[in-house]
Amino acid sequence: MTKAPLSFDFDNTYARDLDGFYAEWKGAVAPAPKVVIANTALAKTLGLDGDALADAAQILSGSVAPDGAQPLAMAYAGHQFGGFSPQLGDGRALLLGEIIGPDGARVDIHLKGSGRTPFSRGGDGKAALGPVLREYLMGEAMHALGIPTTRALGATTTGENIAREGMKQGAVLARVAASHLRVGTFQFFAARHETDKVRQLANYAIARHDPDLVDADDKYLTFLKRVSERQAALLAKWLQVGFVHGVMNTDNMTISGETIDYGPCAFIDSYDPNAVFSSIDRDGRYAFGNQPVMAQWNLARLAEAMLDLIDPEDSDNAIRLATNIVNGFVPTYTAIWTAGMRAKIGLTTEEAEDAALINDMFDAMEGQGVDYTNYFRALAQAASGETEAVTAPFIDPTAIKEWLAKWAERIGRDGTDAATRITAMNAVNPIYIPRNHLVEAALHAAENDNDLGPFKAFLAVLADPFTARDGLAAYSAPDPDGGANFKTFCGT
Ligand code: AMP
Ligand code: MG
Repeated sequence: MTKAPLSFDFDNTYARDLDGFYAEWKGAVAPAPKVVIANTALAKTLGLDGDALADAAQILSGSVAPDGAQPLAMAYAGHQFGGFSPQLGDGRALLLGEIIGPDGARVDIHLKGSGRTPFSRGGDGKAALGPVLREYLMGEAMHALGIPTTRALGATTTGENIAREGMKQGAVLARVAASHLRVGTFQFFAARHETDKVRQLANYAIARHDPDLVDADDKYLTFLKRVSERQAALLAKWLQVGFVHGVMNTDNMTISGETIDYGPCAFIDSYDPNAVFSSIDRDGRYAFGNQPVMAQWNLARLAEAMLDLIDPEDSDNAIRLATNIVNGFVPTYTAIWTAGMRAKIGLTTEEAEDAALINDMFDAMEGQGVDYTNYFRALAQAASGETEAVTAPFIDPTAIKEWLAKWAERIGRDGTDAATRITAMNAVNPIYIPRNHLVEAALHAAENDNDLGPFKAFLAVLADPFTARDGLAAYSAPDPDGGANFKTFCGT
């Protein structure tokens, strides 16, 4: 008996409602497509057939469009490392269409690496297996950490070798997103002074992401505030887990507040606000601690693109209103970050001095070569008085010992018993993250030995990042080489 092929119940609002915002297009035909990994768990939550997904190499590689798909390349612009590119767009990606999951949420089904499009400029439209798997793993890890993100539905090799640094296996990532609307999508039309199109796009985005605002007064301004709040929440979560995106250009910032486009991203090893992993981020624009500043900068670019909508009659007023929203990013971010950090250090109550306590902790950690992730797991144990695991990794533990005394007083006033506090802290402080040396090893085995074993084993560990399990010590151990020289290259 032949199995039913993968099918989607598409309902394509982007194609239908936004004529002129994209180019209809087709994927390149892959010579020998093969699914290397299918996200059957995600498929299930979307109401898709997981078995059919694993057999859907033609569809997942972009070679064949599934019934009901309207493949298209989206237009967008973007500030890249501060400089504006008026035309970027999906140079190697296609939106196949949208489906509505059993939970009622609409998601995009999207391919990356599916060949050249009208937006390809000099690029080949392709993706290599390593970066495709990196995006797969990172997205799944972020999801399990409770961080909004696009997610991989599957990875397919094309059977073609592509020219990168040497020849690499070509691959296509199928991914799911709340939408692919970016700050840069607004910038594309604003830069062309096509205000009607910016308004049409804003109306579409509001209907999709903030439907309660459809009939609201000041809906464009309130929408901007919602985007600000979503991005502030996202950035707070990135910083809490030690994530460095690496290429926070405005075309890589979503309106939905999901993390998107995992290229040269990495998790920090030891705490360092200046940590940069990407080989192309030479000035540290997107350094670990600078990310909230850059998110606010990107938000200001969205605000600029929307000025004519905010007050079509009075541009000074529009600027004043938009500036208020952009300025509001900082207190919103700070409040969310502080609340998350309180939980990370085991506080259930609020005191005005908590922010200073948290900042003192980071001052004590900086430059000490202490593993950021493991520090918080050790701190949980210290709630019962065992501080040795916290202090031992410090080069000079003087400052952290003083800090621990202040923290002990503070948790004394907080009330909860030690066991409850330890459980609560371990529920917000992961033990397993995508450590850079382990990611590299898993990708190396997949790319060079066609061995997906380490990759799949790592994925399974990362699916439950908060629960310590026997036999997984290697996954929580810091890089034996210290990780200081780790560099990532732009995910192509
Ligand atoms: P990224 O840095 O991956 O977010 O991509 C920035 C821009 O470059 C987007 O417009 C991409 O579509 C485009 N791009 C990246 N890689 C390629 C490629 N291999 N071929 C064509 N366009 C690409
Ligand atoms: Mg991008």
